[in-house]
Amino acid sequence: MYSTRVPKALPSLLPEFVWEGTGTPLHLTFDDGPHPEWTPFVLDELARTGQKGTFFCVGENIERHPEVFDRIRREGHAWGNHTMRHESGWTTPNRAYLRSYLECEKLTGSGLFRPPYGRIASTQAKAIARRSRIVMWTVLTGDFDPRRSPEECQLATERALRPGAIVVLHDSTKAGPRLKELLPGILNVFAEKGWASAPLAMERPHSPEDSDSHMVRSKSGS
Ligand SMILES: [Zn+2]
Repeated sequence: MYSTRVPKALPSLLPEFVWEGTGTPLHLTFDDGPHPEWTPFVLDELARTGQKGTFFCVGENIERHPEVFDRIRREGHAWGNHTMRHESGWTTPNRAYLRSYLECEKLTGSGLFRPPYGRIASTQAKAIARRSRIVMWTVLTGDFDPRRSPEECQLATERALRPGAIVVLHDSTKAGPRLKELLPGILNVFAEKGWASAPLAMERPHSPEDSDSHMVRSKSGS
């Protein structure tokens, strides 16, 4: 089960995670691409409405669809690391998880990371937080859930939206049937309220030189 809104106590318990933006703009984020059909759909919708997003890409999908990844970069959006093979940190040994993170980082070169399923062990998070900002979310739209209708996703999302919110959507085969209606619906709300979606800043929290040695230690220690 999941909730559209993050439970109030959770963000403060985990200081290395980013759950919400600091300013007025909201942040639309799209996980699991690049996808040959749904990423171009998202890019067209964002271009039509003049909004910018952040795409958390799976390394294997960047290798499969490099032209789609190039388009994300060309059109002024941000992008981040979503591991090489979409592993869950809870069921993947630390060493393999960090290797997957580094492999995807070679392809993205971004200082943003989002753990697949939001599942990451604290040792993994501590190692990764040295060189990437770990971006979670304020609003989970539920577009990945085939039991939900686009209307249900839309209503729950609208209730949870607020300035500074980080909103999760998916440019994936599974979410496509809901995304198709949900994204234009969300963008309509943005237009009505005069809200903007800004790309997340991709700068690293620390210089990679500092953290390389730490990452190697973490890998050998797991
Ligand atoms: Zn994902």
